[in-house]
Amino acid sequence: MSDPVRRPLITGAGRVETAGWTPIHARADGSLIAEVAEADAGDVDRAVRAADAAWPAWAALPPPERARALTAYAALVDAHQPHLADLVHRETGKPLGEAQAEVARAAEVIHHFAAEAERMWTQQMPGATLATGSWVRPAPLGVVAAITPWNFPVALVVWKLAPALAAGCAVVVKPAIEAPLAAWALCDLAERSGLPEGLVSCLTGDGPLIGEALSTHPRVAKVAFTGSRRVAERIAGWASPRLKALSLELGGHGALVVMPDADLDVAAEVATMQGYVNSGQACYAVNRVLVPPGLRGDLLERMRARIADITLGPMTTDRGLARHHMLLDEARGHDGVVVEGGEEVAPGRLSPALVTGAGPGVRLVDEEPFTPIVAVLEVPDTAAAVAEANRPDYGLVNYLVGRDLRGALETAQQLRSGTVAINGWRVVLPYAPYAGWRGSGVGCELGRPGLEAFVHWQHLRVLA
Ligand code: NAD
Repeated sequence: MSDPVRRPLITGAGRVETAGWTPIHARADGSLIAEVAEADAGDVDRAVRAADAAWPAWAALPPPERARALTAYAALVDAHQPHLADLVHRETGKPLGEAQAEVARAAEVIHHFAAEAERMWTQQMPGATLATGSWVRPAPLGVVAAITPWNFPVALVVWKLAPALAAGCAVVVKPAIEAPLAAWALCDLAERSGLPEGLVSCLTGDGPLIGEALSTHPRVAKVAFTGSRRVAERIAGWASPRLKALSLELGGHGALVVMPDADLDVAAEVATMQGYVNSGQACYAVNRVLVPPGLRGDLLERMRARIADITLGPMTTDRGLARHHMLLDEARGHDGVVVEGGEEVAPGRLSPALVTGAGPGVRLVDEEPFTPIVAVLEVPDTAAAVAEANRPDYGLVNYLVGRDLRGALETAQQLRSGTVAINGWRVVLPYAPYAGWRGSGVGCELGRPGLEAFVHWQHLRVLA
């Protein structure tokens, strides 16, 4: 048998082979795809120092040149979309179509921020003479540590990498060990596109070890994290006392508010599309459908018809699989709860679960499942739907379906989440901010605020 492909660390000090290597297997058939290097604290220090040496010259480039360099990177990513999508498909197990969509949307984000690099502005307030006044300029933060999860292994790196580079920062990427290969390839392409060495590094290996070394490193200016609240609290515990900038994009517990005048075909589409996308392993998933009594039966009928056509990929982690069974067993222990589907139809592969009769106090209604479970809850009126949507301590993405747009918008504004999707399911766009409120996070990504998240402002006051 030939030796497996090895992915060394990508650091400003070149490609680094390590003593230990972690094998990465395809979720669908268990075959070995590649081995990734295991960084230690010394590797973290070297990558951060190289990043710290690289960003000032990058930030000093005239914005059109930085934009051109990022456009070249985006073009290379475009050319490698099939390869990246294949890696995502194999390492996470998500269906190829979903992997292709993730990569295509991520490439759009790089193009968007490449253009934004040129649009970074200087604001000026003229003074008494031409040479005096106030200039307010965005100055890059410096070295950014990007710590990302496995469920969207390309998108969630790009949401940090692209705006940080556009703003003039350097980025040390720490992908999740469950799915590090596409993230590694993204960083490899960054270097091959001609971006300066050290500007983009990739450190694979043990999450807690690398995460702590990055979050405590004196030369890391910002930690941009996406993942679980449990780990977010640890990262904040390291970074906050050191006064580092921080963004934390965490889990959600999405509600779909079905208004009394809703088009039920649209509601069923949103519920099933977002409920079961990526086998439910999505922070923006629909977990609770809140429906008035008179519409419940018709909506369930339409959802069941759609569910019959859904085939899910294997769950990415065994932990997720175990959690799925635990949550459904817990729900079955409550009076009146009915679970349809949710079985393991093949090793590691689930069928979509549809839960009725559950309410607050049932764990899957209170906690992010992160597995393919949608609960349909009957609510007496829209006010009760809003109260239930806002009840758990999450605030990432909610959904609303209703024909009267004014009523829909007025209700959407009462939902306490960074995003509300109305009459459809596509929620993430490069030019709009994506933010978790309350227990779903701190800070935001994408859009103009997601670019400004990588700068601090400098006021140059010229008095004479
Ligand atoms: P996780 O928190 O276990 O891991 C996230 C990252 O942190 C990984 O890179 C991991 O290696 C690293 N890590 C793990 N333990 C660590 C530790 N002790 N110290 C430092 N770093 C550590 O999350 P996950 O299971 O990979 O992802 C699932 C979670 O991510 C879900 O809650 C999901 O909702 C959330 N998520 C949020 C968004 C968003 O944009 N808001 C998007 C996708 C996923």
